[in-house]
Amino acid sequence: MKKIQSIRGMNDLLPDQSPVWQYLEDKVRDLFERYGLAEIRFPILESTDLFKRSIGEVTDIVEKEMYTFLDRNNDSVTLRPEGTAGCVRACEQAGLFSQSPRLWYKGPMFRYERPQKGRLRQFHQIGAEVFGLDGPDIDAELLMLTARLWQELGIADHVTLELNSLGTAEDRARYRAELVAWLTARRDQLDEDSQRRLTGNPLRILDSKNPDMQALLADAPRLSDYLGEEAASHFAELRAMLDAAGVTYRINERLVRGLDYYGKTVFEWVTGSLGAQGTVCAGGRYDGLVEQLGGRPTPAVGFAMGLERLVLLLDVAGAVPDSIRRPVDVYFAGVGDVKPRMLAAAEELRSLCPALRMLTHCGGGSFKNQLKKADRSGARLALLMGEDEAAAGVLTVKFLREEIPQQTLSLSAVAELIGRD
Ligand code: ATP
Ligand code: MG
Repeated sequence: MKKIQSIRGMNDLLPDQSPVWQYLEDKVRDLFERYGLAEIRFPILESTDLFKRSIGEVTDIVEKEMYTFLDRNNDSVTLRPEGTAGCVRACEQAGLFSQSPRLWYKGPMFRYERPQKGRLRQFHQIGAEVFGLDGPDIDAELLMLTARLWQELGIADHVTLELNSLGTAEDRARYRAELVAWLTARRDQLDEDSQRRLTGNPLRILDSKNPDMQALLADAPRLSDYLGEEAASHFAELRAMLDAAGVTYRINERLVRGLDYYGKTVFEWVTGSLGAQGTVCAGGRYDGLVEQLGGRPTPAVGFAMGLERLVLLLDVAGAVPDSIRRPVDVYFAGVGDVKPRMLAAAEELRSLCPALRMLTHCGGGSFKNQLKKADRSGARLALLMGEDEAAAGVLTVKFLREEIPQQTLSLSAVAELIGRD
């Protein structure tokens, strides 16, 4: 029979890799909590309209990357391609915006892209969103948080911050008109993608990956020349705060981000160490989105990082600590008619030593065979219970990694031995 395979671009996380993911997720969660962010969880499946209305109809995501289908009631639903839309929807529905929440989330996202290293169809993000604050201070603090994260993960040397301001909606409208006029005059030099975007989403042409387009755009009007007083001072204050905190960055005028909802601050943390999939964390300010989705005007800023890419980067940087792969402490073996007493003793030991990591031998087999398994488990100690030990209420303790003679001890003495470590 033909074996069923996973869907292309959707990976399993196997046990040898999961400690790295847990390590990364724990580090991020710990840091988020130190900055006062609270976790929010929202569904993986949402109404298709939510993403169309927030991300924008003329974006790569909505045009060609969403997993959209009709459910059994013929409603159009979509596997979330990102977290911000669902987060805003959830906060609006629960009436949280008045509390200016500072939130984080994590989980799988889905985009129908061409799978390659660091680009999956089911991938994972951890993101943060802060609502109700319109000043550059919170933008700066979120950037400081991310800079600290790279420090704490030991990958700071591998990433750089790119920063830009998209201006206010009015600034962008003025700029957009100029850019469209300029590009229309050169329409025959635009590639197919850019021609299509010219009417729907002209700003996206700026971050075209096509070198010919990049060359052409060198002389195009610059968004920075169209920033009004409000956006310009927001950006200047943000930069002053980053400078004061020693967070370095590069202004990238081409950075426009792929989603429609951004304005003012946008940023990406990029690395040269992962080939083409160089952005590990991206975000910015999206003051218009809550209102666009039917809520009261609420300023907002956030970011999301791609966990697959961060895991790859930890590896490249040699930043995965050996200590994350911890074997069990104890392997508990039993031979003869002892199973009930062996399992009861194991439970008692777990109560006495709450931090104990222990494998109990399940099934049969000789002592020799069980000791082999004990050795393979990586445990430091093997506990042995045969019928003699069971009758005497003791355990034989074998040291698997040290030249220490085996001992016969009561359960509480074993607990003390384990507890002493
Ligand atoms: P890219 O330009 O690489 O397609 P993006 O701008 O579409 O990225 P965002 O929507 O900003 O990505 O998502 C934030 C982060 O999530 C990205 O910087 C990246 O680290 C990660 N990410 C996005 N799409 C994928 C994917 N298909 N597979 C793995 N990680 C992804
Ligand atoms: Mg993308």
